[in-house]
Amino acid sequence: MVTASAKAHRSAPVPKVRQTQLLIDGKWVDAKSGKTFATYNPATETKIADVAEGDAADIERAVKAARKAFESGDWPKLDARDRGRLLHRLADLVEQNLEELAGLETLDNGKPIRDARAADLPLVIDCLRYYAGWADKLHGDTIPIRGNHFCYTRREPVGVAGQIIPWNFPLLMAAWKWGPALAAGCTVVMKPAEQTPLTCLRLGELAIEAGFPKGVINLVPGYGPTAGAALVRHPDVDKIAFTGEYRTAQIIMTEAAPTLKRLTFELGGKSPNIIFADCDLDAAVAGTEFGLFFNQGQCCCAGSRVFVEEKIHEAFVEKLVKRARARRLGDPFDSNTTQGPQVDQAQFDKILSYIDKGVGEGAQCLTGGKRWGKRGFFIEPTVFDGVTDSMSIAQEEIFGPVLSILPFRKTEEVIERANRTTYGLAAAVWTRDVAKAHQVAHSVRAGTVWINCYDVFDAAAPFGGFKMSGIGRELGEAGLANYTELKTVTMKLS
Ligand code: ADP
Repeated sequence: MVTASAKAHRSAPVPKVRQTQLLIDGKWVDAKSGKTFATYNPATETKIADVAEGDAADIERAVKAARKAFESGDWPKLDARDRGRLLHRLADLVEQNLEELAGLETLDNGKPIRDARAADLPLVIDCLRYYAGWADKLHGDTIPIRGNHFCYTRREPVGVAGQIIPWNFPLLMAAWKWGPALAAGCTVVMKPAEQTPLTCLRLGELAIEAGFPKGVINLVPGYGPTAGAALVRHPDVDKIAFTGEYRTAQIIMTEAAPTLKRLTFELGGKSPNIIFADCDLDAAVAGTEFGLFFNQGQCCCAGSRVFVEEKIHEAFVEKLVKRARARRLGDPFDSNTTQGPQVDQAQFDKILSYIDKGVGEGAQCLTGGKRWGKRGFFIEPTVFDGVTDSMSIAQEEIFGPVLSILPFRKTEEVIERANRTTYGLAAAVWTRDVAKAHQVAHSVRAGTVWINCYDVFDAAAPFGGFKMSGIGRELGEAGLANYTELKTVTMKLS
């Protein structure tokens, strides 16, 4: 599955694919239609496996199982503490199978094994453990109201949660969504992305091994407009949690209107990364490289608009280009590789077309700009300088290894330009001036602001978007809010 030369350096084994079916009501089954779809290795463009292709009929079965599990059976009878124990057990099993899961993620998504091992998997484990701890801490309040009454609130699970996830962090997105849902006592029907279904299915096997009752977690791989849309429309689904493109979220919002579902969205971004002249230059350059090129640029919070104060522009650009050129592309199973392929042909083509647009609109391509190698969806790390705010590469989400540098002079100016976007997911600021750092952090309309760092994620820290980057928050205590309904109970005391 990998090239001969890549084989020579391989430091991680390619894992066996163990599960390709749907998980419904605790059983692994084929799609009702009998259909399957292929999932590919983006490093070699070869087929890895055929996976059961769920559609509306399978969503129907999965929702029925999730509804039943929510209302009767073992799940609603479980103590909150025991729900936490199951999540802990799942986290332990992920930890015990870390190498296999990291390998499977690398195989299906193309991300370097070193990133899967050092970032994705530890964050998955942490997220499951964090929410395991919350399961028995979902408190209500007692409220003094008028008259002789006893009034209190309860946090009850919202019900059946439909969860639709993307392909850039397949396993991590599953953990972000299962963690709070299961801690709150919901049941789940998840549709993994069609490009990367494999790790989610393996996680499903581990969930069964951990002891989650049947019907609590149901998995229906398939396509968005079929399986995804059926989940969104289903009247027995109480909530949809979606991560993906804002255009898909717009469709989901419309489709969810007839049943007034609760919706949480984590969408795209065009995040400003602001570099002031008084920063620690080497740290800012390293953070900028990481903030854009990590995960092949396939991060919703990628720092794709790099605003650099004019005074340090030349020095910054020189160092950044050097770092971009030093990135190691190649077999993602080689632990020296720092950049793998893009996930599929469609993303690869889209990114190359943005590079063409950048050149066409007059930006200066300092390095990269082309396909790398002859096989696999690899794109050279690409840096554009002289980018202006109105160019498409400064406006639209590219979701690839393409970085744009935009020079600026004044703090007020850069804040205004940073906010001149429909997105508002993340931002970063690099400076030694503490007051300036917080001024920028408070003025930029984004759900997350990093100061002198980038892409620092933690299960306890909420993440989500302002404006068209999303609705609601994931992670932290905030991430639980959308998986619970608040109930007010009032009793007359005499
Ligand atoms: P991307 O372009 O990054 O793949 P998408 O928003 O298209 O982002 O996909 C994210 C997830 O949403 C995937 O699981 C995909 O199958 C799903 N999806 C796509 N279209 C729809 C739809 N109309 N309804 C529900 N889910 C969808």
